[in-house]
Amino acid sequence: MSDFCYLCGNSGATRPLKLAASFTAHSAARAPHSDRLCNRCDAPINGSEKLLWYWHGAKSKWSRLWGRSLTRLYLADRLVCPVIEGSHTERGKAFPIVRDLPTRAQMRGWLLEPPEPPFTIVIAESGQKHILPWAIEARDRDYFPVQLELDVIWVRRAEFAAIAACFESLMTMGFSKTEILSGEYHSDRLTRVYPHHEAHEDVVAPYRGSRLLALVSHVAQRPEADND
Ligand SMILES: [Zn+2]
Repeated sequence: MSDFCYLCGNSGATRPLKLAASFTAHSAARAPHSDRLCNRCDAPINGSEKLLWYWHGAKSKWSRLWGRSLTRLYLADRLVCPVIEGSHTERGKAFPIVRDLPTRAQMRGWLLEPPEPPFTIVIAESGQKHILPWAIEARDRDYFPVQLELDVIWVRRAEFAAIAACFESLMTMGFSKTEILSGEYHSDRLTRVYPHHEAHEDVVAPYRGSRLLALVSHVAQRPEADND
């Protein structure tokens, strides 16, 4: 019997293959004849990262988070963000504690100044789907894969930086992410900055509708903003 992970296809899989009837992505399984899952895939599906407690400092309360909903950064096989350690019991349920959830600004940093490879970036949008199994490990800081929900986006760092700079310049001019993504700029704002937005718009326009621009938008920050 092979030791490949049914989902991600990596070797060394030791956990039994256990997926809920609601799991529908079987056609994407990378080792469809295997009857095993690796620890990393198994953890948010059946294992220690399925449900987690998160301390909401601002709300002064514990919230339950699904492990599948996390945006993650791995260095080789080590999860470095967020941090999952210890455990907490609340309302009679004991789960591991997750802390240091990444902000959009941090994710932006991963993309513009990636860590030394190998690293793996997984960015969740809906929090509803298992996306970790499909993530591909990056081997190069200047050209690397990013798992954005169910899509693998190959990022050329210099290109990404150029689009992000223009996207953020448009945000600084007062345009919303929705306006920039659609190209339907509000006429009041347009009149105020015309024609200074054009150089930025010309860079963004060819990417409109692409998942790469969705990734830019997901992490883009107004320069004066210090968080999401
Ligand atoms: Zn796996």
